[in-house]
Amino acid sequence: MNFIKEKILNSKNIRTLVQVISFIAFTGLFTLTYGSLKSIYVCTIEGNFSLVTCMPQLILVSVVFLLTATLGRFFCGWMCAFGTLMDFLHFISYKITGKSIIVNYKLDQALKLLKYIVLIGSIIFIWTLGVNLFGGSNPWDVFGTYTSFGQFPEFSQYIKSNWLGVGILVIVVLGGLFIERFFCRYLCPLGAIFSILSKLRIIKIKKAENNCGKCSHCSKSCSMGININPKEVVTSGECINCFKCINACPRENLRIMLGTKHSKKIAVVIAILVVSASGIAYYAATYIDSSQATDLSKVHIAELTEQGGGTFTDGTYEGTGSGFKGTTTVSVTVKNGYIKNIETISTGDDMPYYNRAFNHVAEQIISTQNVSIDAMTGATFSSNGIMEAVANALGQEYENNNSQLERGHGGLGYGMDNGKS
Ligand code: SF4
Ligand code: SF4
Repeated sequence: MNFIKEKILNSKNIRTLVQVISFIAFTGLFTLTYGSLKSIYVCTIEGNFSLVTCMPQLILVSVVFLLTATLGRFFCGWMCAFGTLMDFLHFISYKITGKSIIVNYKLDQALKLLKYIVLIGSIIFIWTLGVNLFGGSNPWDVFGTYTSFGQFPEFSQYIKSNWLGVGILVIVVLGGLFIERFFCRYLCPLGAIFSILSKLRIIKIKKAENNCGKCSHCSKSCSMGININPKEVVTSGECINCFKCINACPRENLRIMLGTKHSKKIAVVIAILVVSASGIAYYAATYIDSSQATDLSKVHIAELTEQGGGTFTDGTYEGTGSGFKGTTTVSVTVKNGYIKNIETISTGDDMPYYNRAFNHVAEQIISTQNVSIDAMTGATFSSNGIMEAVANALGQEYENNNSQLERGHGGLGYGMDNGKS
């Protein structure tokens, strides 16, 4: 029984299991959280913010941020798919080479500032000024495209239109092979926010000074390069609650403090609860988002109808287009010469992004009776696929009028694509 407890049911194995489950169940959570924050910001600065339309984004962001501020970065250490990729890369390279590069402490500290520059740069240039920095998908989107279930875009074509995102992802993967949590430490803008938020957390790692052998096993094992040895309490916002330092100490000198009490078991239970709550928020946001879908039968085309007969031939047609992850197939119904209804038959895209894009695109197409409209913020690939499929169903040549169509889909979007993806 003790063997099972120590060798199988230890915090390391439980964390790995939770990471694997999260990777499968919540692959897009990290990009959706960041994208949701972006949507709230863009809506606010454009004066479009409303509690009802931004509800899905608000739920996700507030749950994840609140849990991180109070309990620390379980999101990063236990459930983020990109963080899990970083852990996996380091595990593989360590197994092969038996080495892990320990970055000089001062250099590591300086490089960690880079993620704040990435965050501030993104807010100013991409979110506020609408600079189309990536041309195609950002590295997160590229990663998400090939790790989520569904159809994958043709690789050479994908690289061509997303070369910067793919290039950065290659650098991140190479970095992750040699330096543990390379992206999380130095480049992740969401990690920068979490790092600030988690400073006030109530869960902290504490060391009993009098029993410390000064071997520095704790510091050497830290995923995030925190120099734990000289400290009594780890207060750094870089800590991702992975508990590797605790497992590394041969004297069992480190403890997980919950206020004034300490317990590893309770901390593991809290980790699982945090992951479950964030997962529920993820699916709740997705559900609310899709239930806010416009009833297409109520879309107003009275003015257009008054102008005379529609130009399309009556009937129900099927068409296909290239979405974010392969083919999107729709059915289009034309009545009295007007597009009356659009239904999705199948798509390879991730549903949260697709639903959001579909609500916007289908409503716009029906109300304007025009197939080429503006894409949805943060869901340009999906939008493009729907427009192309509708055009295909109606026997039209599809013309891509969206200059930003090669941008990544980055999160639950809101509003028209105005260059702030
Ligand atoms: S720092 Fe960023 S990439 Fe790393 S685990 Fe946290 S959210 Fe994910
Ligand atoms: S201090 Fe410990 S729990 Fe925090 S990141 Fe480093 S190894 Fe993980």
